[in-house]
Amino acid sequence: MSRPAPRLVLHGGAGVIDPQHFPEARREAVRAALERIVLEAWALLQAGAAALDAVEHAVVLLEDCEFFNAGRGAVLNAAGEVEMDAAIMDGRDRRAGGVAAVCGLRNPIRAARAVLEDGQHVLLGGQGARDFALARGLAPADDDWLVTPERRLQLQRARAAGRVSLDHDEVYPSPSGERMGTVGAVALDAEGHLAAATSTGGMTNKLPGRIGDSPLVGAGTFADDATCAVSTTGTGEAFMRGVSAFDLHARLRYRGEALDVAAQAVVEESRRFGGSGGLIAVDRHGNIALPFDTPGMYRAFIDRDGAPRVAIYRE
Ligand code: ASP
Repeated sequence: MSRPAPRLVLHGGAGVIDPQHFPEARREAVRAALERIVLEAWALLQAGAAALDAVEHAVVLLEDCEFFNAGRGAVLNAAGEVEMDAAIMDGRDRRAGGVAAVCGLRNPIRAARAVLEDGQHVLLGGQGARDFALARGLAPADDDWLVTPERRLQLQRARAAGRVSLDHDEVYPSPSGERMGTVGAVALDAEGHLAAATSTGGMTNKLPGRIGDSPLVGAGTFADDATCAVSTTGTGEAFMRGVSAFDLHARLRYRGEALDVAAQAVVEESRRFGGSGGLIAVDRHGNIALPFDTPGMYRAFIDRDGAPRVAIYRE
């Protein structure tokens, strides 16, 4: 049987993304960024790169883009700090690496990859994660790089309202109007291998030390060549309680559900745990699914004709 062609899907977070407070010019800039990034990572896959390298590269680009809640532009916790979570997983053998509540790194996903390659542990947190990354030559970053004026304003407003919020769920107008979120990528490569990566600043005004679903294998990130690769976005606590990424894998593996049916069910299930959001997934046959139960989810993929597709709302 011939192998399915490579596939690539990205997300930039799910949420309300209120169009009223999102100027057209800004929306177009975000769409253009998503298109540029999906094309750049796609070029790697087309040139024969491993899915693992393609998803890492896509997430590095998303982290470096200040529109999104990951790396530069990540949201602030209740203490006014950027504490980031990230994970990456290889579907070939389920090797995985993650960092949680880590400060002062430019690209947490690179640190997660370093944890995976090192192989001794799966998840490192806080100062230990930062020390590990710096010892491996990864770039530090200070607040001048990581923190944008928009995020400081978001925190002030979240504090005033006593709210811990998903980045894109805030309803007040912001100067630039954007509501970007967590980022993720899933890919199937030419060898038939799957990989997933997720990176986030978490939720605005979260308690210091709070860790979300993104860096946790089986909650926000999962990949297994036998089934699918998945990255979630939305209320992390719900995806953790739902073990959502693993739930998608399990539905495919043990119940033989189709990817789109299973992915939709997983998002609906997460509502039981008080959350909202969405996920991106690709299965071993090259099918993709991008369900969400919020008004919008930033997303981009390459269609079967090789053309980039970018969407925010139900379009
Ligand atoms: N899932 C992320 C978290 O809870 C937030 C998001 O997706 O925007 O940390």
